[in-house]
Amino acid sequence: MLWLKNVHLVDPGQGISDKASLLIKDGKVAKLCRGEKQLTEEEVLMTLGVSELKDVKQVDGEGKFLFPGLVDAHVHFREPGQEDKEDINSGSRAAVRGGFTSVLAMANTQPVIDTRALVEFVRLQGERAGLARVYPVAAVTKGFQGRELTEMVDLQKGGAVAFSDDGLGIQSAETMRLALEYAKLTGCPLISHCEDTSLAGQGVMRKGEASARLGLKGIPASAESVMVARDALLAGETGGKIHIAHVSTKESVWVIRAAKKLGIDISAEVNPHHLLLTDEDVQLTNSSYKVNPPLPSREDQEVLLEGLLDGTLDMLATDHAPHTWEEKMRPFAEAPFGINGLETALAALWQELVLKDKIKPEKLIELWSLNPAKRFALQGGTLKAGSPADMVLFDPEWQERVTAESLESKAQNTPFLEKELQGFPIMVWVGGKLVMKNRKIVEKQ
Ligand SMILES: [Zn+2]
Repeated sequence: MLWLKNVHLVDPGQGISDKASLLIKDGKVAKLCRGEKQLTEEEVLMTLGVSELKDVKQVDGEGKFLFPGLVDAHVHFREPGQEDKEDINSGSRAAVRGGFTSVLAMANTQPVIDTRALVEFVRLQGERAGLARVYPVAAVTKGFQGRELTEMVDLQKGGAVAFSDDGLGIQSAETMRLALEYAKLTGCPLISHCEDTSLAGQGVMRKGEASARLGLKGIPASAESVMVARDALLAGETGGKIHIAHVSTKESVWVIRAAKKLGIDISAEVNPHHLLLTDEDVQLTNSSYKVNPPLPSREDQEVLLEGLLDGTLDMLATDHAPHTWEEKMRPFAEAPFGINGLETALAALWQELVLKDKIKPEKLIELWSLNPAKRFALQGGTLKAGSPADMVLFDPEWQERVTAESLESKAQNTPFLEKELQGFPIMVWVGGKLVMKNRKIVEKQ
């Protein structure tokens, strides 16, 4: 039982950004009191059903924000098969350290998550870790071959909340059309990694002046946006639900805006690195800047932010993609794509967007908690009475240098390594259970 006092609660689901106190009982929010009015001891004892205050844990959150736990619709936890990069336990530790209480784990593991037994395995490993809620995303096509569809209804029964061949774009439009049609039986969105491989070719960064200067093969923006247009039209025709992963080009934003105007059931996410870094930042000697889709142009970046602010783009997601040091030490052109994001994402956006007044804290939390919870029909996303107590106590003043030793993830492939960031979660609860305190995981007894 917990009495959380004097926090600044930001809960867009209830339209609250105000001083508040909360009482937590049986893993849920039992009572919420907003404004300057304080709960009396009597109210606390009565609501929690205890006779003495010593049975209630009290936390004073003066000067801190309280957010509903963040929901990350896009992580790669690499288990089964590539546990040297990350596993569900280490990924879950990284998640809660970063303020994420729910994550959607992508299916591009080895083997890929295309059977019910594998979906259940991911879900159970998440439960075993006992930290963030780990929701499996199952494959769209068997073995990620892009041809034969998986048994989506069965996979959903095993716990899948969405379907995606993320890591690869589904090249056949007919396969995508059938998948959208079939996924309607589950009510779950299809998450599309939009990448036309005939356009992307062997590119390693965004095609443009920067790629020409560095002498690296470029990926044209169209490699993404033509597939966004295709998938939007297919969703419109079938009436299926589509979610566009990692939007990184202005043309994609324009297409999604038009699709929404037409009433197509489309949603989309943006990754922090696409909002904070551009192709101009790419360093030949540091493959932590190598990511797919690649870092955008400055112009794209402005349109991405505009799209988030006007509601064209629905949510933020990390696309947390851990790789081993050995792999990332290879020359830029040969290193794998991916940025490790869970533990730096919130702080980096806070520092660069919130503190610079480009986005309000209320909007940030809407994009990173309420909207993804709604789109994927998950619990959480708000702290209204009766909701699970998935919560983040956030210290806007907390400064920290990101170091290899400090990260709970097995991997360190982040462009923020050795950088000082400001604004971090300091306490995180999942279902009322304290899982992170003062930047450290609360270990199981
Ligand atoms: Zn992807």
